[in-house]
Amino acid sequence: MLIDIHSHHPPEASSNLCFLEGLHSLGIHPWELREDQAMDSVEKRFGELKKRLNPEILAIGECGLDRARAGLWPISEQLAVLEWHMQWSHSTKRPLILHCVRAHSDLLMLLKKKNYHEGKILLHDYNGNLTEAMKFLDYDTYFSFGPSFFRKNSKTPQVFKTLPRERVFLETDDQKDYSIEAIYAKACKILKVDQKTLEELMEKNLLTFFSDLNDVSASDLIANLRTRS
Ligand SMILES: [Zn+2]
Repeated sequence: MLIDIHSHHPPEASSNLCFLEGLHSLGIHPWELREDQAMDSVEKRFGELKKRLNPEILAIGECGLDRARAGLWPISEQLAVLEWHMQWSHSTKRPLILHCVRAHSDLLMLLKKKNYHEGKILLHDYNGNLTEAMKFLDYDTYFSFGPSFFRKNSKTPQVFKTLPRERVFLETDDQKDYSIEAIYAKACKILKVDQKTLEELMEKNLLTFFSDLNDVSASDLIANLRTRS
């Protein structure tokens, strides 16, 4: 079984376990925090999202910070929205799925300020460097990788290889050029392990990642997801 920890598209092969944005996680993406959006309309939307929480929602997000994209709110306001998600994640014991682009130091500062040690975090499509990654390990942080493995001169294979193996995941995200099968195959090459070993590692990581859930049993849920797909 292949695990796709973060995707915006339903899986093509039914034997895979795929965590879909909007179906298994809820949040406000930083790209939605556009300059033409008023704070109170975003606040209202967040309130509506909170009402949609149900036992199939396993994570909070995708939310986060983005300094690279033009036309978004200033980082101080993005941080405020991220704090709402952190509180929601903490109170519902669901991990946070984070999008973070050129804002790793802002995120580290926030985690430090909040002394955030009571909730798990997934830095999806991790694109920071290794030094930053090591600082994130002081918190309960996981990292997921996928399409960026295939980019020319990509640093992510090296980062993926160096991180503790119990803190990594694989994902397809919002693209369709690389399937989760292709991403697993690439990851096997990078780590120099066979597919079975990698599959076992990811399944183990998944259970740890969702181990704080108390109103849903992650293992039941995974079994259900498997039979339903
Ligand atoms: Zn995404």
